[in-house]
Amino acid sequence: MESGLADVLLAEPRGFCAGVDRAIEIVERALTKFGAPIYVRHEIVHNTYVVENLKAKGAIFIEDLADVPAGATLVFSAHGVSQAVRREAKERGFTVFDATCPLVSKVHVEVAKLAREGYEFIMIGHKGHPEVEGTMGQLAEGIFLVEDVADVAAVRVTRPDRLAVVTQTTLSVDDAAEILAAVKRRFPLVREPKQQDICYATQNRQDAVKLLSPQVDVVVVVGSPTSSNSNRLREVALRLGTEAYMVDAPEDLRPEWFAGKRHVGLTAGASAPDILVQQVIARLRALGAVSVRTLPGVQETVHFPLPMGLGDKAMAGG
Ligand code: SF4
Repeated sequence: MESGLADVLLAEPRGFCAGVDRAIEIVERALTKFGAPIYVRHEIVHNTYVVENLKAKGAIFIEDLADVPAGATLVFSAHGVSQAVRREAKERGFTVFDATCPLVSKVHVEVAKLAREGYEFIMIGHKGHPEVEGTMGQLAEGIFLVEDVADVAAVRVTRPDRLAVVTQTTLSVDDAAEILAAVKRRFPLVREPKQQDICYATQNRQDAVKLLSPQVDVVVVVGSPTSSNSNRLREVALRLGTEAYMVDAPEDLRPEWFAGKRHVGLTAGASAPDILVQQVIARLRALGAVSVRTLPGVQETVHFPLPMGLGDKAMAGG
């Protein structure tokens, strides 16, 4: 098929963030140290390739702790867990390693601290996402989810003078700003986080797509359908008027997307491994792309330490 493709422009940064790197490493090190199987509550990160790869090495992914046998080693996913899940894991005596991203844990700590000071919360996020369940589940009551501006009008709080707002870390920066503005209009005394909860990786990847989109005819995002931040990247491109598709694997690419197109933009969600980006590039080359160029962008240097018991020097490089 004659696509006329000329080049591929890579967004920078793209792909793995520090929280995802750490979460995968925790499972891999637990497998090395304790042997298979290692149980993982929920997909460690929302990526099919990563999950299948860890399954092949002996990880077993479960949603319900009732499916974990006594004495097992259990890893909490990068999205974090509620206090109820944490309690149940303790009561059942599992050896637990917590792969909750430190930037999600930071939100949990803030919620607990302000709750002790008598605050109620509005959480901006997507219903049913495990991170939202984990953060809302830090409290037994007094935390209300809003998904959009319409929800803000309907929310019922009992303490408008002692109200704080928190957000899911992987939202659209622009959507979240709009919803937050609506929250502030309705509750002028609401307390905002000192630093926004949307994480650096989400912000940087969205900014990179904003730079990329106007320069290309079509944007491809590598990411799994369950990945919140990957979905948001596709939306950012679409909103800028650029055709955009998300692929979980290189086989998902459809030649007709590139018919009559010359410049393809490529990025990857924070949970999508670079190997998939390389495979997508190989397919785009097979479809006619002759050059690949990386756009300038923020160089990320964030690194999170591993939990005690897995991060010792003896295992480094393992
Ligand atoms: S996307 Fe952000 S919050 Fe989520 S794991 Fe990565 S750094 Fe942490």
